[in-house]
Amino acid sequence: MRKLLCICLGAALLFSAAGLSACGGRNARIRYDIRGEYFPEENKLTAEMSVTVPNRTEEPMNSLSFELWANAYREGAAYAPVSALYAPTAYYAGKSYGKIEIANVSGAAGFTVGGEDENILSVALEKPLFPDESVTLGISFETTLAKVEHRLGVGRNTVNLTQFYPVLCACGENGFREYVYSSNGDPFVADCADYTVSLTLPAGYTVAHNGVGSMSEEEGKQTLSVTAEGVRDVAFVLGKDLKVLSGTAGGTEVDYLYLSDSSPETTLKAITDSLSYFSRTFGEYGYPRYTVVQTDFPYGGMEYSGMALISSALHSSDVPAVVAHETAHQWWYGMVGSDQFENAWQDEGLAEYSAALFAGAYPEYGSSYEEALSRSESGYRAFFSFRSQFDGADTTMNRPLTAFAGEYEYRNIAYDKGVILFDRVRQTVGERKFFTGLKNYVASYTGKIASPADLIACFHRAGANIEGLFDSFTEGKCVI
Ligand SMILES: [Zn+2]
Repeated sequence: MRKLLCICLGAALLFSAAGLSACGGRNARIRYDIRGEYFPEENKLTAEMSVTVPNRTEEPMNSLSFELWANAYREGAAYAPVSALYAPTAYYAGKSYGKIEIANVSGAAGFTVGGEDENILSVALEKPLFPDESVTLGISFETTLAKVEHRLGVGRNTVNLTQFYPVLCACGENGFREYVYSSNGDPFVADCADYTVSLTLPAGYTVAHNGVGSMSEEEGKQTLSVTAEGVRDVAFVLGKDLKVLSGTAGGTEVDYLYLSDSSPETTLKAITDSLSYFSRTFGEYGYPRYTVVQTDFPYGGMEYSGMALISSALHSSDVPAVVAHETAHQWWYGMVGSDQFENAWQDEGLAEYSAALFAGAYPEYGSSYEEALSRSESGYRAFFSFRSQFDGADTTMNRPLTAFAGEYEYRNIAYDKGVILFDRVRQTVGERKFFTGLKNYVASYTGKIASPADLIACFHRAGANIEGLFDSFTEGKCVI
């Protein structure tokens, strides 16, 4: 995600998966089949989901955990998806709530909705799932959308349908990674999966989606059928006034859907230029299509596998940088996963740094590498100076999203300090080792979730022994 903050300085685990250990190297992928219908007059979506989960660990599994991100929008949620700073903008019609209700889970011994904030669906299996075996569950659910311009919600012009379904928690060293929502950053950590989705809705909508899809229409309803392979999520944006502009980048089809854009050709060119540039610089783009959709959204943009949202409220001069940032996330999030709840700098710092590289390579979009770096340096120094006067600035980078004091601190640590870190790495090791290290990272971790140590090891393999520099930044020891 990219936030354009208007900075004003004045202004658990209740049901753990016992016995689950580190993910093994087995390649079987999770499979989702979702058949849903959206009812706009009720702001509701009902769906039947079949999910096949392979046991890729070394131990039997007795239960499965799913994230219920939609429950963060419910009344009384402890971890709201929108901060107080953004709430007045995002909740354009005043208070509004959403939720997800699990009607039934078949193929299981039972289920509970719990976790730290009613954010986890825990499914007890009928029998232990041994390594290399798979289990298929059927999950019936109903998701209610709040009137909110956010990742999931009904906006004034569009409906954002992302994280509307139970998402299997990613597998970590100590079992499933069960995370609460956070208004700081993107708390979503998911293993790659294969999806088929059938989404029925009234005729008249244009739908932006990731994956490959086709639309059919019958008796006043339209049904979108989507296949998306090796993705961390499926995402949809529905709108009655969305216009489409298409192009290609290399051999990849690119669609730009927009509500209002004085120069859509320029935006499309920024999309295709950034996709081509990052393919050349980091390694080939990993999905069959790329879609960017302009939508009702309070932040700059938001990334999904093969798709990005950009805010309809962006100033036109900010669009190329936001597009470049979100497109870079196709590498640093979509293809190469990381734990963005625990180590947000790993993908946000790299995405923002990649946007600086793009600015340097394409000055026609009105910026430069030096300007982007200078913005991060001055922003970070202002943050450090301000916070040092009060409680002492905590500049550690490896900490959970919920441990940041707010979006101002989060932005300066994960984005700005991240940009400075990658600039210093490049300055220290030189061009060849730096870009070889990043190419190693893409080649080794596409389709996986990489730790900070994995990233550092990729630079090491490129001949750059740079662990000390990373540590001095992430542990908050260096002076900038
Ligand atoms: Zn981002």
